[in-house]
Amino acid sequence: MKFKAAMFDFDGTVTEKGVWTPSPKMTDALILLAQKMPIGFCTGRQLESFKRRGLTELLREIKPEMRRSFMKNLFLFAENGSIGYSFNPKIEDFEEFYRVEWPEKFVQREKLRTIIGKAVKDYGEVYYDTHKVVIVIRTNLHDMYELNIDEVYKLSGKIFKICKKILLKIDPDFEKYLHIGDSGIGAIICPADGDKDRAIKEFASFLRKYKDIKIGRKAREILAVGDRPLAGGNDYYFLNGSYGTAYTVGDFTGVKWPKPVMDGHNRRLLNSQGTLYLLNTLLA
Ligand SMILES: [Mg+2]
Repeated sequence: MKFKAAMFDFDGTVTEKGVWTPSPKMTDALILLAQKMPIGFCTGRQLESFKRRGLTELLREIKPEMRRSFMKNLFLFAENGSIGYSFNPKIEDFEEFYRVEWPEKFVQREKLRTIIGKAVKDYGEVYYDTHKVVIVIRTNLHDMYELNIDEVYKLSGKIFKICKKILLKIDPDFEKYLHIGDSGIGAIICPADGDKDRAIKEFASFLRKYKDIKIGRKAREILAVGDRPLAGGNDYYFLNGSYGTAYTVGDFTGVKWPKPVMDGHNRRLLNSQGTLYLLNTLLA
């Protein structure tokens, strides 16, 4: 299939599990791909975190003459798909092109943050003053110097369960208003209409409108790559096959979508290795 654009989850997909920045090989491949097609990162992170540990590495590797064309093709879908950014060369910075509001009428964001903060205090903490829309709860192992990533994933799963229980108690039908996803390095609660499937749809309409790229209703021309596609994972809505063409470099459902990444010897490739393989296929 000929893809017209590509979207990547960040942590565990562009970066290796437990590493917060992409490798030089990965940044090189992403820079080259952005010369061929628009690329978007679709992540639980907020804009500042992407700039600090992601974009910095990309810009360090890039040749000055390629910078402008690279930035023009770079998109960020932050906060798990709740906010979309494109790069505006006039102000030399990212600019929001959509934002989904938190459903305050269902539950006040501030109130929910307080309830969850208390409930998870032995395992993690709620991020304050960073994310604009979503609630992110990360494990208290996050900033450890010697990170045991398997322990982080376990703890993240525990935090996810505690938060989901709270949401179910508020309303057994909470998923009409809010989604919760486990990214492996924390839990993310986002508006139900501000998840990663929204990001694919918004990317598709931006490309149709401003780049004159023909994208079908289901946006199959857009490649979507992530590592947490199972129900409860923060890539579930990204990779469940509703929009885009989905590949997993992490968990594997065994059903039609998403497809695993296999190398020439029929071996599954995981995390940044799988993403790099896909990138090289697109660049070939
Ligand atoms: Mg991930």
